[in-house]
Amino acid sequence: MMIDAHTHLDVRSFEDLEKMALCGIETIITCAHDPYKMRSPDVYLDHWDRLINLEVKRGKMAGVDVKVAIGVHSMGYPKNWDILIKKLPEFLDNENVVAIGETGLHYLTEDEKNLLREQLILAKDYKMPIIVHTPEKNKKEALIEILKLLDDVKIKDDLVMIDHINRETVELIDRDVFVGLTVQPVMKLTHKEAAEIIKDYDKKFILSSDLGSLKSDIYALPRTKLYMKKICVDEEKIINSTFKNAKEFYGL
Ligand SMILES: [Zn+2]
Repeated sequence: MMIDAHTHLDVRSFEDLEKMALCGIETIITCAHDPYKMRSPDVYLDHWDRLINLEVKRGKMAGVDVKVAIGVHSMGYPKNWDILIKKLPEFLDNENVVAIGETGLHYLTEDEKNLLREQLILAKDYKMPIIVHTPEKNKKEALIEILKLLDDVKIKDDLVMIDHINRETVELIDRDVFVGLTVQPVMKLTHKEAAEIIKDYDKKFILSSDLGSLKSDIYALPRTKLYMKKICVDEEKIINSTFKNAKEFYGL
């Protein structure tokens, strides 16, 4: 049993979904992102609608359970994003929506920090888990800002996953939040790096592929799981990072 805890299925093929089901992935979380120039709130609303309706349906057809995270991503959002913050709660009631996200900090602007703060407040008020992205560049600086925002908002640790963490940033996480490790060739971690981080540290790790339109690995989870077995990572850590922690975080 495995849960791929962060993907963008709307830019992937049906065949990818089938292959993931075939290799034992039972649940896939597909997150809102910026597949277009997100110039107006309407583009986001259409995008959220597609995730809730079409992506869940495609999952059923492929034999895998698809759940959805709805949010406004720091990588692309309209100037009048406040409209989306007002609309978000309506979507959180949907039975297939399990989290807010992905959101986070990318360019580290003040506007982006405000956008993240508002979504953290929603997560706290509605007791919804929230997926918080950290960027490739300035990852440490972004993480420090994110930790400050978590303190400001006073959201509970178990509602937060800080995502795309690597060996340089893992030690900065000074609290009991969920820690996302992204196994993705070129841009993020290799399966070997992710496995070794899990072996070396005791955190609430959650593995994912962050499948998107750039080079990704639909087998990120089984590949990392197999490698963890090869290097003798504790069985409990393997189950936690590939399944149990995501199940707990998303309340599945
Ligand atoms: Zn992503």
